[in-house]
Amino acid sequence: MQRRRIPVNPWRFETPQATVQIKTGPYYTAVWKRAITAWNAKKVFKFNILNGPAQITIQPAQANEASLVTHNYVGVAYVNYDTTKRITDVKVHLIHTLLKKYAYTTTQRVNVAEHELGHAMGLAHNPNKQSVMYKTTRYVDIQPVDVSNVQYLYSLPPAQYFINTTVTTTTTNTNTDIASDALLKTVFTRQTKEAVRVVSEQY
Ligand SMILES: [Zn+2]
Repeated sequence: MQRRRIPVNPWRFETPQATVQIKTGPYYTAVWKRAITAWNAKKVFKFNILNGPAQITIQPAQANEASLVTHNYVGVAYVNYDTTKRITDVKVHLIHTLLKKYAYTTTQRVNVAEHELGHAMGLAHNPNKQSVMYKTTRYVDIQPVDVSNVQYLYSLPPAQYFINTTVTTTTTNTNTDIASDALLKTVFTRQTKEAVRVVSEQY
């Protein structure tokens, strides 16, 4: 029997919930809120929007914007996780210059935002095009397979899922100020950058 490879990363949050701070202007705030509402409606993970610092930060245009544009990235997620496999903080943003240049509709921008939030929860790219986690998603929103992948990633209780560690270094990174106690025990050791490239009109 062939085993299905589940497109999830080994890292995740403690439990299927995370706080979110939205730092974008009114238009993109509406885009991200639609994406958050869509995920929350699936009842497998709860994004809680805060007015202050949070585990997930939705950022406006960044200093490296020009470089992201050069690489044709329309969205990007920076996921920090520690040696126990816990996600410590996430930064995501959409690259307006390219979304505008390639005339992504608002709904298509919401789809890309849903994709970035997928990375924020711990989802990896799905080779199947009928998934919001397909690497160049534009037209596809959250699919049943995406919902079941989040469910799968969070199916084990924390005590069984995370790696025991003796690391006790206290991080001074202010991004983790409001994270749970466990997140303050270890330093950031790794960062992944997940990007969505432009889907051009040519296919
Ligand atoms: Zn991606």
